[in-house]
Amino acid sequence: NLCPYCDRKMPENPSTKLQQLLKHLEKKSTFAPRPSNSYGRKASLADFSLVCQQHVLETDMLSKAILEGWPLSVDFDGLATRVRQMKNDLKAILQDETARNSSFLWREVLVQINEHGMESIKGFAGRYELFHMVQPGYYGERGLAVIMEVLYSPLPSSLIEKHLDNIAPLDPQSFFKWVLAPEVALRLITTDRNLSGASGMQEGLKVMRASSSYGAAMFPDEYEDCDG
Ligand SMILES: [Zn+2]
Repeated sequence: NLCPYCDRKMPENPSTKLQQLLKHLEKKSTFAPRPSNSYGRKASLADFSLVCQQHVLETDMLSKAILEGWPLSVDFDGLATRVRQMKNDLKAILQDETARNSSFLWREVLVQINEHGMESIKGFAGRYELFHMVQPGYYGERGLAVIMEVLYSPLPSSLIEKHLDNIAPLDPQSFFKWVLAPEVALRLITTDRNLSGASGMQEGLKVMRASSSYGAAMFPDEYEDCDG
């Protein structure tokens, strides 16, 4: 299975994003079979470079994912149910100090604020330099979108408002972003990998951080509008 444009090998499980890029480019290219590639097509460099960048990235990432045991596909339909089942644990993180203090994500963001100030998690730095801290690992942006959507039902703002002292110095929005959402992803990953206990969480956190760029590339939330 070769790329119609550069004749290099295509990934075996192309992401939805890559499939859409290919589909879009098909309209802007012409059929140009050649000895090296009977499905060859021609397009301008500016057009096909996007496709080729993406498939090279995915090929590299897929071999890494296979090596590391990261999933090549995710059951996003079943994800909401898995998140809902964590309802009581998540409420405990909000309501109970012991549960909260056992959350790696909570402790980590507190250290960050103590050492670098509240400003460090807000604004430019918070969005870019510390981006890895809020990423859901191989679940990607699409997984994060499911997590965020489901989180609000067991943890409505009326409940959060009652426990503002517990989550200080974070505000509700930051608490979701920096603690609850990545906590859910971490728990999904530890379950996926049969890890348990504090050392399992620690190991899961490593997996989550290591697989974030893979997740972001493979499972983006919204694909760029390719039909425009
Ligand atoms: Zn290519």
